[in-house]
Amino acid sequence: LSEKLDKALHSLKGHGQITEINVAETLKEVRRALLDADVNFKIAKEFTNKVKDKALGQNVLTTLQPGQLMVKIVKDELTELMGGETEGIDLSGNPSVILMSGLQGSGKTTFSGKLANFLKNKKSKKPLLVACDVYRPAAIDQLHVVGEQIGVEVYSDRENNDPVAIAKAGIKHAKSLGCNVVIIDTAGRLAVDEQMMNEIANIHKAIEPQETLFVVDAMTGQDAVNTAKAFNDVLNFDGVILTKLDGDTRGGAAISIKSVVNKPIKFIGTGEKMEAIDVFHPSRMADRILGMGDVVSLVERAQEQFDEEQARKIQKKIAKNKFGFDDFLSQIQQIKKMGNMKDLMGMIPGVGKAMKGLDIDDDAFKHIEAIIHSMTPDERSTPSKLNASRKKRIAAGSGTSIQEVNQLLKQFDQMSKMMKMMQGGGGKKMMQMMQN
Ligand code: GDP
Ligand code: MG
Repeated sequence: LSEKLDKALHSLKGHGQITEINVAETLKEVRRALLDADVNFKIAKEFTNKVKDKALGQNVLTTLQPGQLMVKIVKDELTELMGGETEGIDLSGNPSVILMSGLQGSGKTTFSGKLANFLKNKKSKKPLLVACDVYRPAAIDQLHVVGEQIGVEVYSDRENNDPVAIAKAGIKHAKSLGCNVVIIDTAGRLAVDEQMMNEIANIHKAIEPQETLFVVDAMTGQDAVNTAKAFNDVLNFDGVILTKLDGDTRGGAAISIKSVVNKPIKFIGTGEKMEAIDVFHPSRMADRILGMGDVVSLVERAQEQFDEEQARKIQKKIAKNKFGFDDFLSQIQQIKKMGNMKDLMGMIPGVGKAMKGLDIDDDAFKHIEAIIHSMTPDERSTPSKLNASRKKRIAAGSGTSIQEVNQLLKQFDQMSKMMKMMQGGGGKKMMQMMQN
């Protein structure tokens, strides 16, 4: 798809002005890209018509090719459609109360944890999580697990089955603990129904939250729009959280929801881990929808998670030819911290498509880790010692085969060479290549 789009945009090269004829093919591809990304047909059509009006007759500036100008117009319009500037959340209250709403399975509990973690680490806030899903005991356990994971206090009351009372008690508890943010996780159902809507409306009325967030699974495409409308009619919520925007999910729901309820999308969820949260950037989402990848997010996330101290140590070792399997292991751990491999790869332009159907996940690392754990410390720091009998022992010890051990040694060798190359200033070049 993005290849076709590329071609269509390229075919505009050389013309001095954008005309009806040379624009038609491009817009057809843009529309297809939108439909592929799960944007509602009517919205996609309106959008391309608007772009056409803007583009037609525009004189192409000397510095811009017509194709580039079209990309710019399309991108600008898409960005605006999704909300222009990025909006934050209101943390002015003391405590600020944030209410989660959405269907069961949309990712409310997971996102409650992610947001608490984000506010704790990025905004130096002291959050409290409140469990108001009174229908499934497992849901309360789940929030406790999440809270433990991120080191955030969780309030629950298993004896009480009135979510309004629990929410109120939670806020009171937050005050006594000196928490300045309260995140209220609620129960959802598989489909919109009256009881759920009444319940969330009652909680909303009783606690008057600073922020009411609607959490929606981006993979549900067109259905997401109807659900958003139903919740907005009842809650008049403040913002949308788009979850499960991992790897291949293209995010057309962002456009459709925004067009229907006209509320900002505030955060996106990009994986199951607590770190897989990003502030929503309309322009990056526009890139993603147009199939250009999300390099900026990728680079930012990588920078954030990568321990610089560790990086310096490793660089020294590479320079001294002392990079061993222990270092390799800690690098793998770094990569794992960044989130799911597939999520990360999916953000690189061109790679997301190529990876479709390919099964790269954290399991890919399991064998590698097992093999390394079966090596002696000596073997880890001096891999050249690994002769046939040692390899046999390691394969048996890690439950893998000699072929797998050999493959890892080969990969390790290649990686060590590449890292040495990057030390010589090649690293910057590689970043540039990635961005072009
Ligand atoms: P709730 O019923 O709305 O509270 O939803 P949960 O938070 O329990 O999430 C439902 C499922 O979706 C769980 O298995 C989560 O791990 C998963 N999930 C939540 N957010 C994301 C996300 O951003 N990406 C992926 N891949 N899975 C997610
Ligand atoms: Mg839940």
